[in-house]
Amino acid sequence: MTTDTAYLAANWALIRRRVDDACREAGRDPASVDILPVSKTFGPELVRAAVGLGLRRFGENRVQEIREKSEALADCAIDWVVIGHLQTNKVRDVARLAAEVQSLDRLELADALDRRLQQECRAIDVLVQVKTSSEAAKSGLPPEQLGVFLGALRNHHSLRVRGLMTMATHTGEPAEVRRCFDLLRELRDRSMEQGHDLSRLSMGMSGDFPLAVAAGATEVRIGTAIFGRRAPMNRQ
Ligand SMILES: *Cc1c(COP(=O)(O)O)cnc(C)c1O
Repeated sequence: MTTDTAYLAANWALIRRRVDDACREAGRDPASVDILPVSKTFGPELVRAAVGLGLRRFGENRVQEIREKSEALADCAIDWVVIGHLQTNKVRDVARLAAEVQSLDRLELADALDRRLQQECRAIDVLVQVKTSSEAAKSGLPPEQLGVFLGALRNHHSLRVRGLMTMATHTGEPAEVRRCFDLLRELRDRSMEQGHDLSRLSMGMSGDFPLAVAAGATEVRIGTAIFGRRAPMNRQ
C-alpha cells in the first residue's frame, strides 16, 4: 500500500463508521446513506489512490478540473459528479464528461445541457439544487419555484431527475443547519406527492453530515474528512 492509499483507507473507514453511527442514532439503516467522495482541488494521483480503494464516483465543482482529471485517469472508469455552480457555457464538456449533475438550478441550464446531451446521444442523472439557505453566496433554485421547474424538466429527455440537493447555511448554529435539511426533505416529499419520482436527497458535508442524516439524506458529500484540508486559495 502506498502512503496515499493507507491515508485514504484510514479516512474512508473512519467516515463510513461515523456515517453509520449517525444512521443508527437516527434509527436508519446505514445501507440507506451513500458517501460521495469530493475530490475537488486534489490532484489525479490522490484520486487514483482512492480508486484503488474501490471508489468510482467523485464529486467536483469545476468543469476544468473534471477535464484535467478525466484525461489523467482515462483508464479508471470514473463517474464524475458535478456539484458546483455550473455556467451555461460549460455544458459542452459536462455533456461529454459528467456522469451526473447535482447542481441543476435553472431552466436555461437545463435547456442547454439537455440539448447538448442529445447531440452526444447520452442521458445523465440530475439532482435539482435548491437554495434552502438565505446566504447570498449560495446558489440553487428558490424553493417556491421547484414545482414549476420539475414540471418543465419532464420534457428534457436526456436529464433523468432523481432527487434534490442542497448546501445548508454555513453556521455553527445546528438548528439553522437542520432547518435547511428539513426543508429539502419536505420539498422532496411534497414533490413525490405530486407525482415526481425523486428518491434521492444529497445533503450534508464533512462538518454537518450527522444533521443531514437525521433529516433523511440518502447521500452525503464528503471532501475534507476523506482527502484532508484543501489549500486556502481554493477552499470553496
Ligand atoms: C466542497 C463541497 C463539499 C464537501 O465539503 P467538505 O466540507 O470538504 O466535506 C460538498 N458539497 C459541495 C457542493 C461542495 O462544494
